[in-house]
Amino acid sequence: MSASGVEASSGGDVVLTFKVKWQGKEYTVEHLHTGSRVGELKECLSDLTGVQPHRQKLIGFKHKGVPSDDTLFSAIKHQPVNKLMMVGSREDDIAAAAPTQEQVEAASSSADDEDVFDIPEDEMAPVHKQAMFLDKISRRVEQYDIKLVNPLRDDRKLLVLDIDCTFFDHRSKATTAQELARPHLQEFLTTVYPLYNIAIWSATGMKWVQTKLQELGMLSNPAYSISFMLDELAMISVYIEGQGGLLNTKPLGVIWGKLKQFSQKNTVLVDDLRRNFLMNPRNGIKIKAFKHAHVNRATDRELLKLTKYLVSLASCDDLSAISHRHWDRE
Ligand code: MG
Repeated sequence: MSASGVEASSGGDVVLTFKVKWQGKEYTVEHLHTGSRVGELKECLSDLTGVQPHRQKLIGFKHKGVPSDDTLFSAIKHQPVNKLMMVGSREDDIAAAAPTQEQVEAASSSADDEDVFDIPEDEMAPVHKQAMFLDKISRRVEQYDIKLVNPLRDDRKLLVLDIDCTFFDHRSKATTAQELARPHLQEFLTTVYPLYNIAIWSATGMKWVQTKLQELGMLSNPAYSISFMLDELAMISVYIEGQGGLLNTKPLGVIWGKLKQFSQKNTVLVDDLRRNFLMNPRNGIKIKAFKHAHVNRATDRELLKLTKYLVSLASCDDLSAISHRHWDRE
């Protein structure tokens, strides 16, 4: 079967060509059609690249959510020639990069952390300059709508806060959200508010963001106000060699592209996952994850330390000129 352009196959299907980028090379698959399934494309790519189908992550389908291997191409928005990107490693490469037993054990002790393999700061640097990811940020700037819920004060810096495990333990059981709030939360927000505009960015949906803030009393406290909130839709995924696939991250460039008064000089993002700083390695403050609220409530002083640190930063001209790596050393 020829695959030059659109052509009807015997079953009335349309022939499709796929050009798939993987590790800098382009691979072409020409003999599939709208009656084929995603899994068949993966088989073809496996033959071409040596990456087993279950290791492949295909990016670029115009489809709500990730299509399964059984999804027909007729159910995905397609063109005669479809450009995709593939992420995945060959078995021998995976074996060569496999973690040692020691690393596995260390990782399993914090298995629900999602940040099992922390990314050293020096390895984070190259990603934030890659054109592919900067393009994604531009698209978010165009498409994502930031709704201000309270006016901004242009002469103050911007503090962007993660929610889960940063100031809220979302995994423990409780009868009220208050029980799961990190100790000193209100005191922290009240103290930093005169110095910073406060924004929230969570990797969940906006409905959850609003519900949590509401339950924690953060939308109605007269001592401070939250200026705006961002959710998972403002995030981008980036691929980093050796980190096991795509990582979701929070690019501050989305905010800077939309609200021009903010930049790397006057913004910090506080988060318990370092990978959220991938696109802005100089503007992230990694906080210890807050978990097991009922046990740790009595002793957790992280927000008191953070208050002190942010107060000390408030007079700095360029927040990206300072390394925040060891912010919590007293
Ligand atoms: Mg978090």
